[in-house]
Amino acid sequence: MRIKPSDEGNLINIRLEGLNLPKRVFIYDCTLRDGEQTPGVALTIKEKLTIAKQLAKLGVDTIEAGTPINSKDEKEAVYRIAKEIEGPTIAALARVLKPDIDACLDCQVDLIHVFVSTSDIHLKYQMKKTREEIMNMALEAVEYVKAHGVKCLFSAMDATRTELGYLIQVLKEAEKAGADSVNVPDTVGVMTPSSMRSLISDVRKNISVILDVHCHNDFGLAVANTIAGVEAGADEVQVTVNGIGERAGNAALEPVVIALSACYGIQMNIKPQYLMETSSLVEQYTGVPLSPCTPIVGRNAFAHESGIHVHPVLIKASTFEPISPEDVGQRRRIVLGKKSGRHSVKAALEELGIKDVGEKDLIEITTRIKDLAAKNKLVSDVDLVAIAEDVLSLKLYEPRVKLQELVVVTGVNVTPSATVKLLIDGVERIGQGIGVGPVDAAAKAIEEIVGPISRLKLKEFNLRALTGGTDSLASVTMTVEDALGNQFEAGAVHGDIVTSSVNALINALNKALHYQRLRGLEKGSKDLGHQE
Ligand code: MN
Repeated sequence: MRIKPSDEGNLINIRLEGLNLPKRVFIYDCTLRDGEQTPGVALTIKEKLTIAKQLAKLGVDTIEAGTPINSKDEKEAVYRIAKEIEGPTIAALARVLKPDIDACLDCQVDLIHVFVSTSDIHLKYQMKKTREEIMNMALEAVEYVKAHGVKCLFSAMDATRTELGYLIQVLKEAEKAGADSVNVPDTVGVMTPSSMRSLISDVRKNISVILDVHCHNDFGLAVANTIAGVEAGADEVQVTVNGIGERAGNAALEPVVIALSACYGIQMNIKPQYLMETSSLVEQYTGVPLSPCTPIVGRNAFAHESGIHVHPVLIKASTFEPISPEDVGQRRRIVLGKKSGRHSVKAALEELGIKDVGEKDLIEITTRIKDLAAKNKLVSDVDLVAIAEDVLSLKLYEPRVKLQELVVVTGVNVTPSATVKLLIDGVERIGQGIGVGPVDAAAKAIEEIVGPISRLKLKEFNLRALTGGTDSLASVTMTVEDALGNQFEAGAVHGDIVTSSVNALINALNKALHYQRLRGLEKGSKDLGHQE
């Protein structure tokens, strides 16, 4: 991986002398383990396999797939990831207990990550054991893993609150017992970059095997502390996609790899062009939404509000972009607002492939954008397309997907099911689905035909009765978002709530497809109607 600062930008301007930088950093991904411990997150075996496949495509060095002792399902997931995913080392987590390690061995993973608490506070209140007892348990576990010919990573849990002499002693003994790597976790996220640099320097002097750091984000310092660990010689970093994990989460993979590459020139196996799609997949499956301001992968990470920044960005992007959005699978967004000038509007139109707009039309479009912005806070590309089409009387929009027939079966003690007949580009196709309710079943039936609905996810769904009574017209509005964060609003009204919902969904789908076509992003929708 090599992320270069964007053209003529100069990121590598920190003083690198005096740092103990490793040549190469290994990325140890914990999304499926620590990430799955995010409150409220539960992934199915199939979802875990899909994420693992994506992580392999992204180029992480190790995937920690789970804790097999936890449940039958988790064990099955780890086993299948170990069996089916090619490329990365597949790891599983175990306490320093034989049944935990045996469960990992059953999964045939490449590496077993054994951990035990070493801080006095954990020893006293959690483990109720002495330092000597803990040391013996740790060494027995490492030896047990190694006796089975499997790679072993040893973690001293709560390392950053452990007495330094004892921490180094435990890690050294673990290395002697055969551990292939040792980890210093900041389990409760109490470090700062300078304390981390000092601690890891001390540990590094005593350890020859791979040295890991695992930082939590309780004080918002997880990424900074991870980088500080690398500055002091750590050669492996434990991270999660989108920074998910217990409590405030873990160090996020995206800013860690980009900072290591762009600011330090460190080599990694990561293919950064897949960062955005990996982030979106994890966001979708875990249901943990990203803030728009999330570094690298957030919706606003490369957005420029009109005015002072837009003009220079249009002339030379590196004036206000530290790296190029395309390098991380992102795109630039020119956000139009009430201060937008014709330059911005023209540029935004051109980005959408709408060129050669006459001066009079451009003024009209700009005026209408400003009017809309005065009412709304934000004018999206989708709004711009709608306004441009109207002003220019473009007939670009022909819905590709039309609903022909819809049959739903629902009731008490019945699994809701649906059959839909769609006309896609004039070709008739039939899909079936079951769901938690009739709307869900119909959505699944549509999904069966159009693939995962062009990778759209539902952000908002509102149902409103327009008049009183059981025969009221049902108005459905929904907002869906595509993989790049573009949002599409669509609505429909019908006497039947299922029909309104399905029509709204199809309207949203058509808008998204139309938009993709305009932007030349049709790759994702060409296979429409072909099942994977
Ligand atoms: Mn953790």
